[in-house]
Amino acid sequence: MIEVAKKILTEQFLCTHCLGRQFALLGYGLSDKERGEIIQNALVMEYYEHISTDEEISQMIKNISKCNNEVATRSFYKATKEKVEQDKITCELCDGLFDKLSDFVLEIKQLLLKEDYQSFLIGAIFPVKLIEREDNFRAKYSITTSETMKEEFTREIGKSLSNETGKAPSFDLPDMTIIIDLQSNKIKLEKRSLYIYGRYRKYIRTIPQTRWPCWECDSKGCKKCNFTGKMYQESVEELIANPVIKITGGTGSKFHGAGREDIDALMLGNGRPFVLEIQDPNIRSVNLKRIKKIVNRKAKGKVKVGQLAITSKKKLQHIKNSSTKTKKTYRAKISLEDEISSELILKIIQELHGVVIKQKTPQRVMHRRANLERPRTVYDIKVKKTGEKEIEAEITGQGGLYIKELISGDDGRTLPSFSSIIGFKAKCYQLDVIRLHYEY
Ligand SMILES: [Zn+2]
Ligand SMILES: [Zn+2]
Repeated sequence: MIEVAKKILTEQFLCTHCLGRQFALLGYGLSDKERGEIIQNALVMEYYEHISTDEEISQMIKNISKCNNEVATRSFYKATKEKVEQDKITCELCDGLFDKLSDFVLEIKQLLLKEDYQSFLIGAIFPVKLIEREDNFRAKYSITTSETMKEEFTREIGKSLSNETGKAPSFDLPDMTIIIDLQSNKIKLEKRSLYIYGRYRKYIRTIPQTRWPCWECDSKGCKKCNFTGKMYQESVEELIANPVIKITGGTGSKFHGAGREDIDALMLGNGRPFVLEIQDPNIRSVNLKRIKKIVNRKAKGKVKVGQLAITSKKKLQHIKNSSTKTKKTYRAKISLEDEISSELILKIIQELHGVVIKQKTPQRVMHRRANLERPRTVYDIKVKKTGEKEIEAEITGQGGLYIKELISGDDGRTLPSFSSIIGFKAKCYQLDVIRLHYEY
């Protein structure tokens, strides 16, 4: 180690960080700067006797002295009776980057002043020139015990920032990622999205679950959408997200529902689980009770939310994947072609209760779903007569069971169906979700 260090320092000027970093993998518990200081001191001691006689060694001790090394400065004076001229020279490896650590920390602290975060991660973009220079340097001196400049730089900034702000560095899920771009000399903050879990109920038959862009003008605004860029002026998503975006100062949102109901269907009972993702939030520590109150007041009579909780991206995946594993209970209002007898009503219940239905992709969704035959279970069914040619049914089925087609038969594509059992046409004209049977 001493041999290599001597060779390096007689040939070029390296700062203490860059010297120590070449030996970063030797032993534990030292920063690269501390390693550098130890090696500098060892070199002074090893070659002290030759300072006044050997020109190369004299130059090396001068270079060490210029890194603010007191041992080198005093030893040089003792040996030669001359002072080292403290002219400013720049590290030939990092271009003086490590002299500016505290400036970077100060600048980042300023940027973070108004930000709401608990954990952070430091990232850096290095100029190709520096990376190549370091690679060549290591090759030249056959160094295999170093870490990269980027590793040391980001770690040291992270350490000081943590000391000064009291916030924790985190590699896993940092609230804030701070990217120091040394190519453009800019510092960028990336905020992790905020995920809010909840359940919603929907009380009107005129709004879709998510924002529905106008397909005529591709959201640009046209006559058809009344220059709003949207097919529907409101959605469950917007009713919930807009107040939350305002409160958190986010730049946008994404709405992830555990399945969806038709636009004209109500969503009742215990509500449908969702995760609202707020992008780029200024405020993370939100008061969920207040959010619930504000959303429910603004969306009164349309949508109501409850059970709000802060959640993670992981839970979001879980909610997205769970929709066919869950049971759903629907209430359907059905009109009939003919009058129905109580025997026929009984027959519907007997032939559908606990039965696996074979259901080909409904004609109305054929344009966006693959044409498959799916087996779906009807777990429970209740039917009552509500008029001469009208019945109402409460059906609990496996997730993914198409209820409207279970009733109409969809021209024989769903078997058995209400129509196939009673022998004349049945049609669902109103359908609501009255309960989702979720286990979380
Ligand atoms: Zn350096
Ligand atoms: Zn339009």
